[in-house]
Amino acid sequence: MQEDFHYYATYCAAYLAGYSHEESMEICYSAQFVDLCSRTLLSKLGGPKAAATTQLQLELMDARTDLTGLQDITRIWSSFHFLPRDLHAEVKGLKRYRDKYRLICGPNGDLVRDTVELAKGKSLQAAGVAMHVLADTWAHQHFAGTPSLVINNTNYHFFEILETEEGLKDRRVLFRHSASAPDDPEAGLYTNSVYQSSEKNIMNLGHGRAGHLPDYSFIRYRYMPAWGKYREIIKNNPEDYLHAFTQMIYALRYLRGDNPSFETDTYDVAAVSPYAKEIWAILRRRQLDASADWKAFGEKLSGRTIGDFDIGAYQKEYVDAEKGSKGNTFLGKFFLAALTQKSMVTNRIHSSGNSLAGISIDFNEKGFGGMADFASILEARADSAVEEITDGLLDQRSAEEFDSGGLKAEEFDSGEGAAAEEQGGEDA
Ligand SMILES: [Zn+2]
Repeated sequence: MQEDFHYYATYCAAYLAGYSHEESMEICYSAQFVDLCSRTLLSKLGGPKAAATTQLQLELMDARTDLTGLQDITRIWSSFHFLPRDLHAEVKGLKRYRDKYRLICGPNGDLVRDTVELAKGKSLQAAGVAMHVLADTWAHQHFAGTPSLVINNTNYHFFEILETEEGLKDRRVLFRHSASAPDDPEAGLYTNSVYQSSEKNIMNLGHGRAGHLPDYSFIRYRYMPAWGKYREIIKNNPEDYLHAFTQMIYALRYLRGDNPSFETDTYDVAAVSPYAKEIWAILRRRQLDASADWKAFGEKLSGRTIGDFDIGAYQKEYVDAEKGSKGNTFLGKFFLAALTQKSMVTNRIHSSGNSLAGISIDFNEKGFGGMADFASILEARADSAVEEITDGLLDQRSAEEFDSGGLKAEEFDSGEGAAAEEQGGEDA
């Protein structure tokens, strides 16, 4: 998902859930900031590097792809953008990829409930972080936040489902690898990442092989995910995004105290029914960026102006704060929310017997939430706990699992898959 949903639509959801304009702005700012809080930014601000919620392209290029490096990547992307749906999913025939298979993202799993519950009674920043994670479970479903060709690859069988006057029609998606050319929905031309045959190549992280299609609310497509053993999947983004929007309202009502509990598969449809037509129209409009539509809708709801997202808005406050009071700043609260979420997800993955994300101490249970001056403690404890402890405690078995990648991937891409790659080569 992009700024149109994480910022503007999240504002609308928060306002519809009963938050004030000012509170809604803080929630949607935090939701959007999840896409920007990289280690590069954190080191510029002097913030705790373990609070990174994303990795820049450049950081990913430099990232180590040994076991520790892969665990670091997996912690970030699984915790914030590809929340696993079922950590105990049974896999038929993909046994050696079981742990990666279990990291496939999807909505309404136990972890999304844990994510929302974790934000209860905490800051507006925590609510925003949770809304980013929840929304992404809808957009990014069927992909995993760990580099894996076997899980995340796509092939030539990829069709957009178009509504025409004669009914639904399929059109083959033409993928190209030009990062500079914008996607062209009218021509059906979309950019995706280059095929990389190595199982754990960084290009095989997340939905790169499906390009930005998962990020567009209007699009519907059918394709065969690599893990699906040639079973086709139909992705209906307008419906999924409507689920995301109404589930955010329901979750935010729970965080505000209106709903006594958060149950999965529950949506606040009543809150949107007066605006159903308008929301549905925004979701279905064929455009690469729906920001202007969501902004106009949000401003109509509240009668207030929704300012543009400004990455620098709260940086000075954090940098200038005294050492003991950084935790009370806007970004200080965001970093704590991020650390809490990351450690919770990492712990859940680890305790399911899956070592792909390494281990982490549980900040929520260790009680750092109440500490104002957490930055230096977290910096020390988080970086050493998250990165060094994992170094020391890895067992040989998990190392071997990582190194054995690639074989199954060749199976998938044998035969017809090769044709798609030839085609890809011409585009490049
Ligand atoms: Zn995301």
